Amino acid sequence: MGSYSEFYRRSVDDAEAFWAEQAGLVDWQTPPRQILDASHPPFAKWFVGGTTNLCHNAVDRHLATRGDQAALIFVSTETGVERSYSFKELHAEVQRMAASLIELGVGQGDRVLIYMPMIPEAAFAMLACARIGAIHCVVFGGFASVSLASRIEDAEPKVVVSADAGSRGGKVQAYKPLLDEAIKLSKHKPDAVLLADRGLAPMELVAGRDHSMSALRAKHIDTPVPCTWLDATAISYTLYTSGTTGKPKGVQRDTGGYAVALAASMKHIFDGRAGETYFSTSDIGWVVGHSYIVYGPLIAGMATIMYEGLPTQGLDQQPNGGIWWSLVEKYKVTVMFSAPTAVRVLKKQDPALLAKYDLSSLRALFLAGEPLDEPTARWISEGLGVPIIDNYWQTEAGWPILTIANGVEKKPSKLGSPGVPMYGWRVKILDEESGEELTAANAKGVVAVEGPTPPGFMQTVWRDDARFINTYWSSVPGKTVYSTFDWGIRDEDGYFYILGRTDDVINVAGHRLGTREIEESISGHANVAEVAVVGVADALKGQVAMAFVVPKSGDAASDAEVALTLEGEIMKQVSDQLGAVARPARVRFVSALPKTRSGKLLRRAIQAVCEQRDPGDLTTIDDPSSLQQIKQLVAP
Ligand code: ATP
Ligand code: MG
Repeated sequence: MGSYSEFYRRSVDDAEAFWAEQAGLVDWQTPPRQILDASHPPFAKWFVGGTTNLCHNAVDRHLATRGDQAALIFVSTETGVERSYSFKELHAEVQRMAASLIELGVGQGDRVLIYMPMIPEAAFAMLACARIGAIHCVVFGGFASVSLASRIEDAEPKVVVSADAGSRGGKVQAYKPLLDEAIKLSKHKPDAVLLADRGLAPMELVAGRDHSMSALRAKHIDTPVPCTWLDATAISYTLYTSGTTGKPKGVQRDTGGYAVALAASMKHIFDGRAGETYFSTSDIGWVVGHSYIVYGPLIAGMATIMYEGLPTQGLDQQPNGGIWWSLVEKYKVTVMFSAPTAVRVLKKQDPALLAKYDLSSLRALFLAGEPLDEPTARWISEGLGVPIIDNYWQTEAGWPILTIANGVEKKPSKLGSPGVPMYGWRVKILDEESGEELTAANAKGVVAVEGPTPPGFMQTVWRDDARFINTYWSSVPGKTVYSTFDWGIRDEDGYFYILGRTDDVINVAGHRLGTREIEESISGHANVAEVAVVGVADALKGQVAMAFVVPKSGDAASDAEVALTLEGEIMKQVSDQLGAVARPARVRFVSALPKTRSGKLLRRAIQAVCEQRDPGDLTTIDDPSSLQQIKQLVAP
């Protein structure tokens, strides 16, 4: 173990030498000729001239050393299935899938859209695409036909891979009718659809277009499909951002840079070792699922757990808030990755569940996706007794921008902070108006990254370089800086704090306040389970803060008197901690908050409803009734 500050310094001062070394963590068919080509900023091309393959690095290269070890462990508490695939078995399944795709006409550079529940076939399909140089576009299985149709139009896939159905909380969600509807709505029509039949919902196959996955698999049970060696800069996949702030952006990723970035992060950040088990509770529809369910752990030679189901149900389909911990015990998970939203669900369960299992294999729990509030961090860290490591990044980034590099130096975490800039990322705090860099400790500004961006970062917006440049790189004229659209501060020790999105700033009578700060203060109240704060237009003050709270217990949502008392307590708490300007004008109580399917608060939708405006694109919303509740509460 060395010093992280020295490691970081080298990564930015001597970036090419640093990344040339990291490139040794993956196999190359042809080694790169040039480490970095930054001649056309803001585009950064990594490992130019090198050829490699993501599937080779994730699967084939482990066959000789760990062919019989577990590679993919599938656990579905929805269907009660638990099954493990060794690297050898995974290799066989991926080739069968690749041969099926080839039979349907898929070749290098063709797009394959994957619209699947969390089943092994989804991972096989991703790896099969990588194997033959096809570009996968995974669309989160929870999306309905309109969202799906717009992605089919944008990606123009030759083939769509899907399934009869998924399942959520024991309820079957048919996918096939939604897919049929989406294809009808889309101007682009795929040549073929490859369907997994789980026997959950009836399916009608469209003659000439739809194909049974099991039939093609059987036909290609022994068809060998070698890896196609691809340029490091070949597109591996496109993936949409979560759509929290508006229309999702199609992020495009390369091959070689991504492979190196993931291999390096598995070693330096997650400290995961070959032969161990990694458990990420995300979904393959999100970037965490791409990087840390499928590619990252496998590239590192680890077994990866793919989990279908809620965190509160057992394999016997009975309520079980300890299911994840039982998997940690059973598979001796060493590294776990989840999201604050999932931990908040578990927080409502019996805390004794954490003590019931032997969690001694676990070395760290990483959390990402949204701000990790202190009470949640404290609860899980005390319960697990292992470091809880917040990490901040984006779909665009591909791997963490801010966190603790646990494999380099086990620096302590600070509550409320996702940590320090990761190697390769030149993270700055910029003044929102002038674009000047703010170097003083605790100065508030926009979190930005100075180019050239490290390997793994997006190449561009799919088929839209102009959108890439205009969306992300145009906030500071004349400088090559990428805006994250999050604002934050850096303290005197170099730790960052994310204060919210740049559009989540409230301006009360000229005072600029982050919604996150107010939410943090409110969530410290003993009876607050979850909170969302938004700025609402106000004739007098410009904007006022409005808070929506899910109480932990009691009848605040239904009993006006209880609500009034709790509202008073919360207002006083914010006044005492942040000052009277930050005190919410109103606190309202609800049973759930509107979130995206990836668990992010839809503040823009809440704000719109509060201002009697149209909430806009709601295709990513999880539970529409939560927004309805707010609508009723704020009706004039
Ligand atoms: P869109 O870009 O379409 O609006 P999105 O930004 O929610 O959607 P993602 O790429 O999934 O899409 O999420 C990245 C964002 O999530 C970050 O920009 C940040 O706002 C938030 N985020 C992620 N991790 C953290 C974290 N550890 N702490 C605070 N915020 C986080
Ligand atoms: Mg974003």
